[in-house]
Amino acid sequence: MSAAALPSFAPRTGAELARYPVHDGEHVRAAVHAAGEAAAWWDGLGFAGRRTRLKAWRSVLARQLDRVARVVADETGKPFDDARLEVVLTIEHLGWAAANAEKVLRRRSVRPGALMANQAASLTYRPLGVVGVIGPWNYPVFTPMGSIAYALAAGNTVVFKPSELTPGVGHELARTLAEAVPEVGRYPLLTVVTGYGATGAELCRAPGIGKIAFTGSAATGRRVMAACAENLVPVLMECGGKDPLIVDADADLDAAADAAVWGGMSNAGQTCVGVERVYVVEQVAEAFLEKVRVAASRLRVGTATTEGDLGPMTMPSQTQVVRRHVTDALEAGGRAVLGGASSVRDDGRIEPVVIADVPETSVAVGEETFGPLLVVNRVPDVDEAVRRANGTGYGLGATVFSAAHGEEIAARLRCGMVAVNGVISFAGIPSLPFGGVGESGFGRIHGADGLREFTRAQSVARQRFALPVPVTSFRRPPAVMRALAAALRAREWVSRS
Ligand code: NAD
Repeated sequence: MSAAALPSFAPRTGAELARYPVHDGEHVRAAVHAAGEAAAWWDGLGFAGRRTRLKAWRSVLARQLDRVARVVADETGKPFDDARLEVVLTIEHLGWAAANAEKVLRRRSVRPGALMANQAASLTYRPLGVVGVIGPWNYPVFTPMGSIAYALAAGNTVVFKPSELTPGVGHELARTLAEAVPEVGRYPLLTVVTGYGATGAELCRAPGIGKIAFTGSAATGRRVMAACAENLVPVLMECGGKDPLIVDADADLDAAADAAVWGGMSNAGQTCVGVERVYVVEQVAEAFLEKVRVAASRLRVGTATTEGDLGPMTMPSQTQVVRRHVTDALEAGGRAVLGGASSVRDDGRIEPVVIADVPETSVAVGEETFGPLLVVNRVPDVDEAVRRANGTGYGLGATVFSAAHGEEIAARLRCGMVAVNGVISFAGIPSLPFGGVGESGFGRIHGADGLREFTRAQSVARQRFALPVPVTSFRRPPAVMRALAAALRAREWVSRS
């Protein structure tokens, strides 16, 4: 372990909350090795044994919801109730993963096909061993638990590197699991390693790692992939987004405005699937904008002593990004509907900003802002809204408000998840996979896909009886292949006629 210490700070006050070790390569490798030994025990418990223990963890988290949420709120600066919502959603996912792992992953028979009718074919999904999880700070429980809960339910053990901004939350997860599962003292199911990017890179390179589940920016994601490439370690990439919200002419404008403001401003805009761009059709644009302005202008930014509707930026340097985007949107010709450059304060408290009619070339439209800035652009019709929504390299989530055509519009969007007439709703539905395309990454957490993500498919073909004439043997008579080819051609002829 390195002598250096990792302090965690409260964004609301700037006060130091605690100090954690900066773990070096030797420590990380030892953690992965121990997790590998525990993985054999955990796998051996079978689905039922794991389900019982994960449900016990769910109970502990439910009982200690406020205690865990307090650590989240302290380290991120988000309002306490938002932190509680994050833990509530996490508990739902943990329960779903525990309850459904067996149904999704257990051995099942599949048809062997006519050619191999003498075989019994079966498929099962086996754990990878040790999964390394590298997390972000914006939803420090919900986001990594999308990997941790599903990886554990699938039979893996986990070594978790929380963000350097939220190491205390990582420890809360390990603490509550240890309280629920006494065997954890002997078999480390969830080991937390703390530190900066270098500690994460050590995790990627540690011998015995079966997969890395990364959540963070696309830039860091590329570095993680490069490190994993050295040992051909597979990766799951949950990266950033620039999620659009489309408002059709027949939309419920009150609901759409409410969704745009909550989707764009909650958690101070630091949400990977937060609403960053709105495309509203011309005929309802002014009415919609006015509703957004009124709703957003009611929001208050919390201080050290007041909760507020949103907290300060969790990561102080993000303030500069938000300022750059606001300035660029206005200089490019955008119209300030609410707030402006002066809304972005040096202490990291940012009042909600709404800017309309921003050229699509502005960084405020093309790059992830990760702050309480909403760009609202009018479009002549839904076709143009879809074209622009699909116009960035990102493709994480999206929102559509339309009374009659919501799912139709959703099908045309290049992204991983769409909320129709709601916002971010997909994230709270454990059976729905979560993940993106393009710069937003690849692979899926949540749902059946999220369980399979932490497994390898294993196929077994068991011969039930020998064929009268051998096909896959050097004893095969020459006539066999002639007969087989003729039978295949005959089948094609029948299927064409
Ligand atoms: P980040 O990329 O700065 O860091 C993420 C994690 O990677 C941290 O734990 C960090 O210590 C670690 N890291 C940094 N360098 C590394 C390296 N070279 N090797 C290994 N690990 C390394 O991201 P962040 O600022 O913590 O999080 C914000 C980003 O996360 C935003 O872009 C947001 O959109 C994205 N995000 C995505 C999702 C999703 O599910 N798609 C969810 C939440 C956040």
